[in-house]
Amino acid sequence: MERLTLLRKQLQEANREAILVSNPVNVAYLSGFTGTAGTLLLTAQQAYLLTDFRYVEQAQQQAPAFEIIDIKNKPWQVTAELLADNGCRALTVEADYLTVDTYQEIVAALEAVSVEAAASPVTPLRAVKTADEIKAIEKAQQLTDAAFKQILAYVKPGVRERDLALELEFMLRKGGAAALSFTMIVASGSRSALPHGVASDKTLAVGDAVVFDFGCIVDGYCSDMTRTVFVGEASDKQREVYDIVLAAQEAALANLRAGISGKEGDAFAREVIAAAGYGDYFGHGLGHGVGREIHEAPRLSPTYEGLLEPGMVVTVEPGIYLPGEFGVRIEDMAVIEEQGIRNLTAASKELYCL
Ligand code: ZN
Ligand code: ZN
Repeated sequence: MERLTLLRKQLQEANREAILVSNPVNVAYLSGFTGTAGTLLLTAQQAYLLTDFRYVEQAQQQAPAFEIIDIKNKPWQVTAELLADNGCRALTVEADYLTVDTYQEIVAALEAVSVEAAASPVTPLRAVKTADEIKAIEKAQQLTDAAFKQILAYVKPGVRERDLALELEFMLRKGGAAALSFTMIVASGSRSALPHGVASDKTLAVGDAVVFDFGCIVDGYCSDMTRTVFVGEASDKQREVYDIVLAAQEAALANLRAGISGKEGDAFAREVIAAAGYGDYFGHGLGHGVGREIHEAPRLSPTYEGLLEPGMVVTVEPGIYLPGEFGVRIEDMAVIEEQGIRNLTAASKELYCL
């Protein structure tokens, strides 16, 4: 109920009469309903969950705070009637989720209602996590930490990237994860310079950097971590780059706190990498929010002006990518607090030569 109250407060402040929540992640967040066909219609007084006959019973069980409406194949006619019942003449829809087709259908069907497409007002609510949400993310990260510790024994010359990915997935699932939070990255040798190199048939060779970027889902929440290790030995250049990336990450972890912008947060790490002469090789933002989705608000990036708030969970993942040579990325997840951060990632960051 707390979430609905906050959303209603936002609607009121923005002078909005009603909102249609279509993004299924937002639907589950606000209502608890996890079916694949469900839309929320929220007015100042009423909370409806529109679904079809397959899900009526499930919706009643999972979303007790909502009045469940069977759309009977006429979702927009039903929406129009409910809006009329509530005397609403304006409706906000989620511009960052609806297709153009669906938006046009809604506009055509709701003749008497003015339809405003806007960035979902649920996004900023989801960005700030409750204690229970943080607990779920922590659980997912604990499995991720444990899997990384175990996979070290498998890293040796001749092993395929895809076999390492499979072992990691098995460990995570065996440990209780519902799924991976995204397609795992295991990228070795020159492939480690690909920021998103998913596991391939390539086998590890002595001197390879190996980037592991992976996470899992527990109780509906994601984890996300990156570690870079070396096979057999690390060259002087690999050690230098590793130390710069680690120093950049530590600078960010030491300085991130509530009240600064995502842009300022990004700069803590970016400055360290630029000062070391590798500024051109850190081509992505420092981090992103993590929650029900692997990438969500807020962002730590050179263009994100939004402010960090206590309870936000963000990744801190600087990287240096040298095309044709190798790449290094190190990623932790942290909760933003008033005075700093609490790191949720416990996996070691020592430079491993395995
Ligand atoms: Zn990651
Ligand atoms: Zn990430």
